[in-house]
Amino acid sequence: MENCIFCKIVNREIPSNLVLENEDFMAFHDLNPKAPVHILAIPKKHYESFQDAPAVEMSGLTAFIQEVAKKVGVDKSGYRVISNIGENGGQEVKHLHIHILGGAKLKWGHFSDSDPKNNL
Ligand code: AMP
Repeated sequence: MENCIFCKIVNREIPSNLVLENEDFMAFHDLNPKAPVHILAIPKKHYESFQDAPAVEMSGLTAFIQEVAKKVGVDKSGYRVISNIGENGGQEVKHLHIHILGGAKLKWGHFSDSDPKNNL
């Protein structure tokens, strides 16, 4: 899709620090890592977010992420997968991507600036 930064990575119009690639998916290191291991896994096909992705695409992406985790050696030590969706999810890049975070014990929480009790 035109003007989509991750489509440009798929098309080799801009470079990425590639971890793994197959016919349908790509994984590359996040430019601004938030953990010792911070990789983004994307489908080559453009979907705006997780909310728009067909289940069959996610099925392939799941297997691909498991392969990435093995390749970078976090499959046994553990890791976290996150997809930010839309405005409240804090999504910045509008091409479905799954964050793969690991390499250290990750903190849990700090999801909202407001009191969680007020979010209900
Ligand atoms: P999100 O907030 O979930 O949309 O995350 C977008 C992520 O993409 C951020 O963690 C950015 O650091 C990362 N990012 C943006 N541009 C690039 C790029 N060209 N190569 C690698 N990571 C990128």
